[in-house]
Amino acid sequence: MQNDGARHHHRADRVKKKSGVAARDLHTMVEGVRGEVRFNAPLRDFTSFRIGGPADVLVFPADVEDLCRLVRQARAAKVPIFVIGGTNLLVRDKGIRGVVVSLSKLNAIKDEPHGVVYAEGGVGMPTLMRHAISRSLGGLEWAAGIPGTVAGCVVMNAGTRLGEMKEAVKAVRLVDPTGRIVDCPASAIEFSYRRARLPRGIVVGVWLQLNPAAREKIESVVKEYLRYRKDTQPLTLPSAGCVFKNPGREAAGRLIETVGLKGARVGDAQVSEKHGNFVVNLGRASAADVIALIKKVGRTVEEKTGVTLELELKIVGQP
Ligand SMILES: Cc1cc2nc3c(=O)[nH]c(=O)nc-3n(C[C@H](O)[C@H](O)[C@H](O)COP(=O)(O)OP(=O)(O)OC[C@H]3O[C@@H](n4cnc5c(N)ncnc54)[C@H](O)[C@@H]3O)c2cc1C
Repeated sequence: MQNDGARHHHRADRVKKKSGVAARDLHTMVEGVRGEVRFNAPLRDFTSFRIGGPADVLVFPADVEDLCRLVRQARAAKVPIFVIGGTNLLVRDKGIRGVVVSLSKLNAIKDEPHGVVYAEGGVGMPTLMRHAISRSLGGLEWAAGIPGTVAGCVVMNAGTRLGEMKEAVKAVRLVDPTGRIVDCPASAIEFSYRRARLPRGIVVGVWLQLNPAAREKIESVVKEYLRYRKDTQPLTLPSAGCVFKNPGREAAGRLIETVGLKGARVGDAQVSEKHGNFVVNLGRASAADVIALIKKVGRTVEEKTGVTLELELKIVGQP
C-alpha cells in the first residue's frame, strides 16, 4: 500500500500532463504544509456557481504560519497562487493552474476593546454577522445575505444600497508575496466601487470597527434585508451574485430587463427570471455557457441602450 506522500506524488504526476506547472514543483511546494492538500481538485465543489474545472492543487492552510510557508515555497518553485472564496467567481472549464488556496480553516473571530472585532480571512460574512449580533454590535447590517469570506469582501469592497465594506474596515492583515505578515491600516487602502487597492498579498485577517446597538434593532434590519433579497434574487439556484457593476445610477439588472433578456439561455446558463443581473446555473451549465451568455447580454445592452456594462464577476482560470 502506498503511503500518503506517495499517493500525492502519483496524483501530482497525472496532473503534469495538463498543467503548465511541473508535477515535481507542485509536490515540492506543498511539502511540510500542515493543512489539507488536494491534487486535481474540481473547483465546482468550491464555488457558489457550482461551475469550474480543477485546480492543480487546492490547499487549505492550517493557520497563518502554514500559509506563510506555502507562499514562500510557491515563490521558490515559481508556482502561481490564487485565493478563492468562491462567491463572485466564474472558474473556467479548464480550471486553474498552480495552487489555489482556500482560507476556510482560518475562521477565528476575536473581540477587542471598544467595539473592534478581528476576523480571520476565511470567516464567512454570515458567521461574522451572527457574531456581531450576539455581541449587540451594529455596522454590518448592510451585508446581510452576502455569502463571501470577510477577506473576499474587503478585496471586492462588497456592498449593497445600505452600505459597503470600507465603512467598517479598520485595518487588514496580509501575507505578502515573500511570505511575511504585514498589517495595513484602512487609511492606506484606496476603496472604490467593488474594488480595494491593497498591498500585494493574501488577506488573512480584518479588524472591523463596529458600534454598540440594540440587538433587536440590528436583527430587525437584517431580517428585513434578507426578506428583500429573497423576494428579489434567485437564491435557490447556484449563482455568483451580480454579474455586472451598476453603470452610474442606473441598475444593470433593470437595463438587462429593459432589453428583454430576462430568462435568456445558453445551455444551462440563464439570465434569472427574477433578477436581470443574476446568471443562474440550471444544473449543468459550463463556464463557456456562462461566458457566451454574458457576452450576448453585454452586446445587446450596448446595441439597444448605448451603455457599456462592466463585469463585477471575476472570470478566472485557463482560457
Ligand atoms: C447570492 C449572492 C448574493 C451576493 N450579493 C452580493 C451583494 O449584495 N454585494 C456584493 O458586493 N457582493 C455580493 N455577492 C458577491 C460576493 O459574495 C462578494 O463579491 C464577495 O465579496 C466575494 O467574496 P469571496 O470570499 O467569495 O471572494 P471570491 O469571489 O472568491 O474572490 C473575489 C476576488 O477576491 C480575491 N480574494 C478572495 N479572497 C482573498 C484573500 N484572502 N486575499 C486576497 N485576495 C482574495 C479573489 O482572488 C478574487 O480576485 C453575492 C454573491 C452571491 C452568490
